[in-house]
Amino acid sequence: MADLRDLYQEVILDHSRRPRNFQTLEAPDRVAEGFNPLCGDRVTVFIALEAGRLREVRFRGSGCAISTASASMMTEKLQGKTPDEALRLFQEFHDLVTGKETGTKAAEDLGKLGVFSGVCAFPIRVKCATLPWHTLKAALEGARQQVSTE
Ligand code: ZN
Repeated sequence: MADLRDLYQEVILDHSRRPRNFQTLEAPDRVAEGFNPLCGDRVTVFIALEAGRLREVRFRGSGCAISTASASMMTEKLQGKTPDEALRLFQEFHDLVTGKETGTKAAEDLGKLGVFSGVCAFPIRVKCATLPWHTLKAALEGARQQVSTE
C-alpha cells in the first residue's frame, strides 16, 4: 500500500506544482468564487458552455497543494461534460473524500480523481479538496455571492 500512497502523492504534487487549466476565461458563461477560511484557499472557477456542455473549465486562485491539485484535476475531468454529469461527479467525489462507500460505478466515473481517497483521513483537508467543486456548483447554479466552506 505504501507504493500506492506514494503514487497518489506524486499525482497530487504534480498537479499542485503545474496546475492544468490555470487561466482566466475572459468572457465566461458562468463564474464563481470560493473561499475556505479554515485553510485560506481561494479559487475562482470559470466555465464556457456550448450546446449544453462544459466546453471549457478554467480556474485561478491561491491555496494549498490539495485545493490546487483538486481544482486542476477537476477542470481536466469536466471538459465536455453536461452540467448534470458535473454535479453527479461532485456528489461522487464528495462521497469519496468523506469516506462514504462509493461503489464501482462511482470509481469508474471518478477515474484519476481516486487519488483523493486518502483525504478522508484528514477532515480539515476535505474542505480543501471539495472547495473547487463547491465553487463549480455555485457557478453552474449562477450564484452571485462568494461560496464558503464554512
Ligand atoms: Zn487548503
